[in-house]
Amino acid sequence: MKISINGNTLELKIGDITKQTTDAIVNAAIGTLLGGGGVDGAIHRAAGPELLEECKKVRRDLLEGELLATGKAVITGGYNLASKHVIHTVGPVWHGGANQEEKLLADCYRNSLQLAAANNIKSISFPSISTGVYRFPVELASEIALRSIREFLNEGRFGDVTMMLFSDIDFGKFQSSLEKLVQQ
Ligand code: ADP
Repeated sequence: MKISINGNTLELKIGDITKQTTDAIVNAAIGTLLGGGGVDGAIHRAAGPELLEECKKVRRDLLEGELLATGKAVITGGYNLASKHVIHTVGPVWHGGANQEEKLLADCYRNSLQLAAANNIKSISFPSISTGVYRFPVELASEIALRSIREFLNEGRFGDVTMMLFSDIDFGKFQSSLEKLVQQ
């Protein structure tokens, strides 16, 4: 499913984000930037060890040794990936919804898109941030993701945004949310 927003596109696809050829892919990272399981592990494996080296450097120099805060984003190269850049963002862990989870998830999408635009990136693919190990309910996460992306695209010319879903079930949930959003 693909829609046009203010001269930009937003597309939902099913598949492996590490195979995407967009200018950038987004990693659902952990605050240490040292790699983890799920999509984070898959991206590090596909990109090769140089990605971890650059992540360590970003952590040391840009973040002055601190963790990357939830909702924030940083950029690195893509190394062995087809994508030239990886944008790493840390999604919120779902604790029931009363701990700013919704706002923090929206921040992930907005900050990643702003960082992409600042780096002249014209196409970007997102995984479904926080809905794996971090247990954010997919229905709610899909509404927040799509609303945040639409809000950003409505502000100006960016390019092409893809949501790369990893299962038919997730794709179906994002599709329902997108259908609802375009009807509003
Ligand atoms: P989080 O810790 O933010 O919840 P996960 O990596 O556990 O991150 O899961 C986020 C989403 O990424 C899940 O929907 C998971 O199925 C999906 N995912 C895992 N591997 C890939 C991949 N190679 N490409 C796209 N999505 C993936």
